[in-house]
Amino acid sequence: MTISRLRLIVQHLSFVILTFGGNFKISLGSSLPCLSCPFIGSCGGGCYLMALQRSMAWLWPPIVQALVGTGSWTQAWNSTTYFLGGLAVFVGLVILLGKSWCGWLCPFGVVQDWLSRIRRLFKIRESEILLNNKQRISMLKYVLLFYLLFLPSLSGFGLLPRDFVLAFCNICVAKLIMPMVTGDLNHWILGASGGARYIYAVILLLLTGSMSIGMFFKDRFFCLFCPMLAIIDLLRPFHILRLAKDPSACRGCGNCRRNCSMDNQTIYLERVKKRVYDPDCLGCFTCSEGCASDDSLSVRFGPLTLFSSSRRYSSRNLTGGGL
Ligand code: SF4
Ligand code: SF4
Ligand code: SF4
Repeated sequence: MTISRLRLIVQHLSFVILTFGGNFKISLGSSLPCLSCPFIGSCGGGCYLMALQRSMAWLWPPIVQALVGTGSWTQAWNSTTYFLGGLAVFVGLVILLGKSWCGWLCPFGVVQDWLSRIRRLFKIRESEILLNNKQRISMLKYVLLFYLLFLPSLSGFGLLPRDFVLAFCNICVAKLIMPMVTGDLNHWILGASGGARYIYAVILLLLTGSMSIGMFFKDRFFCLFCPMLAIIDLLRPFHILRLAKDPSACRGCGNCRRNCSMDNQTIYLERVKKRVYDPDCLGCFTCSEGCASDDSLSVRFGPLTLFSSSRRYSSRNLTGGGL
């Protein structure tokens, strides 16, 4: 069994559980570090971004009111514990599996991989224009993270309408695409005109159209913008499951760079450090699978080595593509 094949099986198992698990009474909470969208009626576990936005709206007002003497400390304590409880589960899951939530478990990542496979089926090449602008584009995920934390907080204080509590969900293309995968098109329908909700619905339709084109022509295009990836990356010093490199064993074949669906260069270019990271890494480990240098790239779970690259393995199994 190759890493790619194992990953494909795990990805689709995860997709089925997280997308349809609700039908079988599976509920994995609301702190998952992947876009398992609760707007799907049968969702088996919720994306933490929704819980985080709600926490931002509920967390600050009771604390400020308690500080200025217009509210009770009990209320402030309740909203703080609600926030910390969800955060602790999320952080624990990220520490355990790191970026692999994106590479192995995210249902929206699976949908993006389907689009890439269709493109390859038609022998259409990946867009070079998008590749060349990757650095600039990928910075936007941090802007979106700020937007996701800031607007719900303003809404919590009553400075913005309640429609802004889920400010990021309102523009998240997974909100339209994931329910559509299950046959639910209700979120595509524009409601009564006027108001923030209507404007958001129009923006989301436009974003979904343009993002779908991007995801077709560029592998994992949405992931470049995804604030979930930004949060997972912030915790990278603590990831237990991770990629490691022995620069002294690297023969510079470049297979890691060529096989990466995110076109990450950092792993290839690293010539000193053993702990290798790229902010846009999805933890798929395709690079280690394709590496033609013995023990140059390895997959580690804490001190344990789960997989180590070898010339024999790569020449036998190299697929020539990251997905
Ligand atoms: S709309 Fe997007 S951010 Fe909101 S819960 Fe769904 S996947 Fe998460
Ligand atoms: S970065 Fe991609 S794979 Fe990771 S959570 Fe976001 S959409 Fe899913
Ligand atoms: S750097 Fe390696 S593990 Fe990270 S996304 Fe690229 S191929 Fe996957």
